[in-house]
Amino acid sequence: MWQAVKGEDNMAHHFDLIAIGGGSGGIAVARRATEYGAKCAVIEASHLGGTCVNVGCVPKKVMWYAAQLNHALHDAPDYGFDAALTTIAPRGHLDWQQLKTKRDAYVERLNKIYARNLENSGVTVVKGRAAFTSENSVTVAGETYSANHIVIACGGRPALPKIKGVEYGITSDGFFELAAAPRRVAIIGSGYIAVELAGVLNGLGSEVSLLLRRQHLLKNFDVMLREALLEQMQDDGILIATGINLSAVERGRDEVLTLRTHDGHTMAGYDALIWAIGRESNVDGLNLAAAGLSIDEAGFIAVDSFQNSIVKGIYAIGDVTGQAALTPVAIAAGRRLADRLFGGKPTAKLDQRNIPSVVFSHPPVGSVGITEDEAREQFGDDVKIYQTRFTPMYYALTTRKQRSTMKLITTGADEKVVGCHIIGDGADEMLQGFAVAIKMGATKADFDNTIAIHPTSSEELVTMR
Ligand code: NDP
Repeated sequence: MWQAVKGEDNMAHHFDLIAIGGGSGGIAVARRATEYGAKCAVIEASHLGGTCVNVGCVPKKVMWYAAQLNHALHDAPDYGFDAALTTIAPRGHLDWQQLKTKRDAYVERLNKIYARNLENSGVTVVKGRAAFTSENSVTVAGETYSANHIVIACGGRPALPKIKGVEYGITSDGFFELAAAPRRVAIIGSGYIAVELAGVLNGLGSEVSLLLRRQHLLKNFDVMLREALLEQMQDDGILIATGINLSAVERGRDEVLTLRTHDGHTMAGYDALIWAIGRESNVDGLNLAAAGLSIDEAGFIAVDSFQNSIVKGIYAIGDVTGQAALTPVAIAAGRRLADRLFGGKPTAKLDQRNIPSVVFSHPPVGSVGITEDEAREQFGDDVKIYQTRFTPMYYALTTRKQRSTMKLITTGADEKVVGCHIIGDGADEMLQGFAVAIKMGATKADFDNTIAIHPTSSEELVTMR
């Protein structure tokens, strides 16, 4: 039942909207709602900014830049730079501690900016962990807070396998605590985080083994991207082993890790192990039952396309929902929800179609729209594929080579572009504009009618035949 909150003290703790979680989604919904005049609070137990700012996109991208720089240093002599100045690449020659200190300071700056932005918007920040006490109230450190609308935006956390010795491995959270580059590291998993960390650590000089339980990377991506990335990672010196199902991890007296598989194989000699096998919702302690809520079979809070949970007045956004676990998706869902609840836009909701996504591998992968397999399943023979593979001009002078591959998936007589998949240097930056075109319904003819920018890699996308 909806509970009226009475009394002056309680009114001070009553809001139009409370967001549980001060990450991308929670901050977005609260700030947008305050723009419409709503009284809002964000409850956060840890640092503002959530996974993305603290243990995700932001510090990861810093590490990705560092690895990219190391590749560039390696290539520099090929462009005539003094090799003595540029051969700082091998592991041990990077001042990891300095990199970490500066990276952490940047994250701290962002935490403060988030706090200031919330303050400037008039959003109340409540420090602590929330637990539901009813459909419209929560407690935080013994205080009760109520709201007409409560948005669960408490994100996710790394999943761990249930095997003996799991505690000897770290997750992506632990990766950001590393005080030095591991000498020899095993990474378990095949998704975004596994390939990103494998690329970063390889780029920064660690000996990396990427252990896949199946045969492929990035299972939901277009097959071209998966194969091209696998090949490139192997060319770059990453050992990729397939069909590896771990049964136990052991740590010797020398701290060195040994991995055992279900089929009796042993892999030894690792000084670090990283679990990157997916993420799960972070709902511990929320006392969902008090609000009449529970998690679904996959462990997430089920919502409809308007972010409504099964309980009126309670919503969920971001990673806790199991929807695409991407910062901009959580932000968009939060803003649309605020538009709907307070902005007089009753039909506002997140559009799940054509969400562009980049994997910060080396080289990066960019993808928007459907894969070739999905297109063939949906449109049968009415699918035409355009694909190109080339070595970008940058590598014309270098001994280290890296190729780029691009694929456009079109359907129908007008060859509407329904998928665009890129792997190669610059894919991360070139995808956004093409995502706009695809969202607008661009056809292959629209791509062809766009004058190329020369010399670039992206021009290949408008010159494919
Ligand atoms: P992902 O869901 O991307 O990939 C995890 C993969 O690990 C699974 O798909 C599965 O692949 C494999 N796996 C699952 N269980 C096991 C197991 N027990 N042993 C070995 N392998 C296993 O998860 P991530 O943790 O990499 O990332 C979580 C989410 O965070 C991503 O989906 C993405 O939405 C987001 N993210 C986005 C980034 C970006 O935008 N650049 C960067 C990082 C994360 P299979 O079934 O093929 O074996």
